[in-house]
Amino acid sequence: MFEVKDIKDTNLADNPVIAQMSQYNHEQLLFCNDNATGLKAIIAVHSTVLGPALGGTRMWAYDNEMQALNDVLRLSRGMTYKNSLAGLNLGGGKAVIIGDSRTMKSEAYLRRFGKFVNGLAGKYITAEDVGINPADMAYVNMETDHVVGLAGKSGDPSPVTAHGVYVGMKACAKVQFGSDSLAGKKVVVQGVGHVGEYLVESLAKEGAIVYISDIHQDLLNRVASQYGANIIGLNEVYDMDMDIYAPCALGATINTDTLSRLKCSIIAGSANNQLENEQVHGKMVMEKGIIYAPDYAINSGGVINCYSEVKDLSLTWSMNKAEEIYATVENIVNRSKSDNIPTYEIANKMAEERIASVGNVKLPM
Ligand code: NAD
Repeated sequence: MFEVKDIKDTNLADNPVIAQMSQYNHEQLLFCNDNATGLKAIIAVHSTVLGPALGGTRMWAYDNEMQALNDVLRLSRGMTYKNSLAGLNLGGGKAVIIGDSRTMKSEAYLRRFGKFVNGLAGKYITAEDVGINPADMAYVNMETDHVVGLAGKSGDPSPVTAHGVYVGMKACAKVQFGSDSLAGKKVVVQGVGHVGEYLVESLAKEGAIVYISDIHQDLLNRVASQYGANIIGLNEVYDMDMDIYAPCALGATINTDTLSRLKCSIIAGSANNQLENEQVHGKMVMEKGIIYAPDYAINSGGVINCYSEVKDLSLTWSMNKAEEIYATVENIVNRSKSDNIPTYEIANKMAEERIASVGNVKLPM
């Protein structure tokens, strides 16, 4: 016989999980457990006001379940804001699988996860994230249709993401320099991977003076010779005399140390979570007179590409939708200037405004 602990005296509101859920008004949390495969996962649906909650599945060896819970709650809420600001009919969700992605995955493990996703009946749509690749998603897809980013479908999102970053950067230039031309502007692209290389291509075509840094020398050599870009050292990035800094590699590169060194007028790049501390560095960057294009506003091309798969739309549709990032970023920057409020805060407000206004005509799923 097994024993169930008596929890009748526990006040549910004191439960840390319920408390965390209420703090940012998450709609639903699904804890998934399967002893046979060893699967432990959490799916968080933050909001379905605008549509089904879309966000990737991250597999990570968290130290403990609370760490995983914090991550999934934070990331799913972030997706609500990103999807809203991109003007998509999508809510925000995310899943985390607790485990080592190099050793724990198997067909059964991933299909079991797919069954849990399927149990949400389309309220949550999953995609790849850290630790999960297209082959894993193919297993998930055997148990649920609520998956995007599959091989052979909408394909690599990077060209769409890079296009959004490019037009968002031009919008910043329009406000900061009075013209959105990037010809002759010195732009440092940090990271020339999937997104970075496409961005370099667009910048070079427009006649910008492009500097690139990466940890892979062979990649640097190829991109430099293909697009006529100049190679700089990893640390040189923050001390360069430049007009625009485009972080396309890591998060948290806008911090107290780099802000004491950066000599740019604009920060516009694809990396997620660029501000080390949103409140502190979002304000600091504004006080330095630098225009910062909020990361989730300017890099939403990736999620636009996912949406095209949900709705069976073309790459041309995605590229056109990504063009709207120009107006969104311009609006954010202008509002930030007129209200003297950091751009990340304006972006959050705009995302919340859309949810509130659409929420008046639409109920959550
Ligand atoms: P990627 O892994 O293809 O490219 C990242 C590049 O950065 C790699 O070439 C890597 O060597 C380089 N790099 C790593 N550390 C570096 C360092 N310290 N200095 C300079 N370069 C370094 O990734 P990606 O798909 O191009 O994405 C780039 C960033 O944009 C990531 O932060 C990602 O989360 C974000 N993002 C990507 C997409 C997309 O569509 N791919 C969408 C939204 C956001």
